Amino acid sequence: MTDEIAALVRLRDVDANIGKLTSLIELVPEQVAELTRKVELLREELSKRRTTQEELKVKRRAKEKEVEDFTAKIHKFEVDQYGVKNNEQYQALLREIALLKQKRSQAEGEIIEIMEQEESSARDMKEFEAKIAREEAGTAEDKRKREAELEDAKRDLAVEESEKAGLVSRLSPPVRMRYERVSEGKGGMAVAAVINRACGACYTNLPPQTLNEIRKGLQVITCETCGRLLVWTEESGH
Ligand SMILES: [Zn+2]
Repeated sequence: MTDEIAALVRLRDVDANIGKLTSLIELVPEQVAELTRKVELLREELSKRRTTQEELKVKRRAKEKEVEDFTAKIHKFEVDQYGVKNNEQYQALLREIALLKQKRSQAEGEIIEIMEQEESSARDMKEFEAKIAREEAGTAEDKRKREAELEDAKRDLAVEESEKAGLVSRLSPPVRMRYERVSEGKGGMAVAAVINRACGACYTNLPPQTLNEIRKGLQVITCETCGRLLVWTEESGH
């Protein structure tokens, strides 16, 4: 095997590693943003629930004010009872008082309902706040892990890139040009191994003569279908 072909064999692995690391490096910021968004959504939900709680409080206070107003009116009519001139007026006042008491009782019933809603909402809120605290702790931990992965990937990528530069410098100018052109068109994977007597990238079957030449590793052979540089590796057989 020529040194150039040995360099191509190694380039295939290095390019595959560079591909994986590059995808990872692109993916991590998206994952971190997704984690941040998840907590933000929970915080938005918490804020909505707080508003609902405030609304219940305002509603209850308004009802309490209604009850006070009814009580004041009832009291006034009860005082008025002593000043009435005839039975008709007296009966009219009694009806007014009865009606006001009925309305007051209804408002009191509504206050109890609101208070029950407030209690249940306060309980939910505590659970929800605990859930957010757990999510935040988990998310912070996940973020730290992802960011550590990112740092590792960047370091590994620099090592692979440096090895690649060394390997590419071992290629003759025409092979290097071909490698670079195919690499650009094929997502950074310009070298393919022979697998099952075919190009391992596009699966085109290779004639026996071509297989022999690739196995000997004395000259650079390209796949006629996809243009990749073909190499014989452990996966290719014997
Ligand atoms: Zn091919």
